[in-house]
Amino acid sequence: MEKQEYIDLAEENLFHVYNRFPVVFDHGEGMYLYDTDGKKYLDFGSGIGVMAFGYGNKEYNDALKEQVDKILHTSNLYYHPPVIEAAKAVAEATGMDKVFFTNSGAEAIEGAIKTAKKYAYVRDGFAGHEIIAMDHSFHGRTVGAVSVTGTKHYRDPFYPLMEGVKFATFNDLESVKALVSEKTCAIIMETIQGEGGIYPATKEFIEGVRALCDEHDIVLIMDEIQCGMGRSGKMYAYQNYNVRPDIVTTAKALGAGVPVGAFAVTDKIATHSLVPGDHGTTYGGNPLVCSAVAKSVSMMEEMKLPEHVALVAPYFEEKLEELTKKYDFAKAHRGMGYMQGLVLTIPVGDVVKKCLDKGLVVLSAGKDVLRMLPPLIADKKEIDEAMAIIDSVFSEF
Ligand SMILES: *Cc1c(COP(=O)(O)O)cnc(C)c1O
Repeated sequence: MEKQEYIDLAEENLFHVYNRFPVVFDHGEGMYLYDTDGKKYLDFGSGIGVMAFGYGNKEYNDALKEQVDKILHTSNLYYHPPVIEAAKAVAEATGMDKVFFTNSGAEAIEGAIKTAKKYAYVRDGFAGHEIIAMDHSFHGRTVGAVSVTGTKHYRDPFYPLMEGVKFATFNDLESVKALVSEKTCAIIMETIQGEGGIYPATKEFIEGVRALCDEHDIVLIMDEIQCGMGRSGKMYAYQNYNVRPDIVTTAKALGAGVPVGAFAVTDKIATHSLVPGDHGTTYGGNPLVCSAVAKSVSMMEEMKLPEHVALVAPYFEEKLEELTKKYDFAKAHRGMGYMQGLVLTIPVGDVVKKCLDKGLVVLSAGKDVLRMLPPLIADKKEIDEAMAIIDSVFSEF
């Protein structure tokens, strides 16, 4: 089929909820993607932070294939080896004690919210608690997740949303303090805001929020769906700070290509919140996705990818700094590890489009940030290649 035929057929049948770029991807190899015309693209998007090992990793794919032939699904009424192995891996990687697997990031957020609400309900003997979330945050597209997402246009058409959510200013501790009341059951935040424009939390903010939660017995939910799994240079981004959350949400690179998420909680939360009957999922944590999780966590550690990211990220940042010096419209860069953003005053969508034309996949975030989330296997060579393409696109503006 010709590219335009694919696109026409897609638009005929797919609900038009995305403005897709006119690219039809066919396969991938390492750091590169190939479209149906055979054109090669360097990938600095990872399918939005998912493909940590790049494409076609043999060890990873073989583990999945083996599981496909063994057993795909059992339901959560029974035990199976992959979920046992995956739960141990996620508990160790997050530093939490108990794990619940979901099918997506948004569902991990839903579970985290329910857990925090139940914790406060068990403690107080009544419901009606409130949650503090952050402006410019992103937590997913389900109704509960949208309710804690601090972006107006994601929320406005869908009122009434979940009640009792208040929004503070990210990295402004006083704004959080001002919203705390005896009704507050949870504070939810990304360690590094992703969709909102790549804003890492400051040390003062994250440690201040932790202290505030300790003082008032508030559950701290860290959303690590985008910044977790090695991307920040540590396995989980909060491990760059001196904090331990009460609940961690993880997804995206957790399955490195298969749809799986999880929320993980401390023993204290686990023993005073959800009990059998309170929560569940048919697919969540099935043998296929759990074989992927167990493999992705163990490969991440064996390949020392967080360490690799921490080692190469300063070089990446140096190159971004050069671009901000060279072009007036490149105002600043910010980020952590392999989660980097360039703040632009030229239309970011046009830049993304021109990069694609020149064979580079990049993303946008917020309204003015060029977002880069390369696979964690990226090295200096690929960073040079990506920066050269961005440089050549910039030179056309
Ligand atoms: C992507 C994302 C989500 C939602 O994950 P889905 O798998 O798309 O539901 C939630 N939080 C953050 C920080 C994300 O980046």
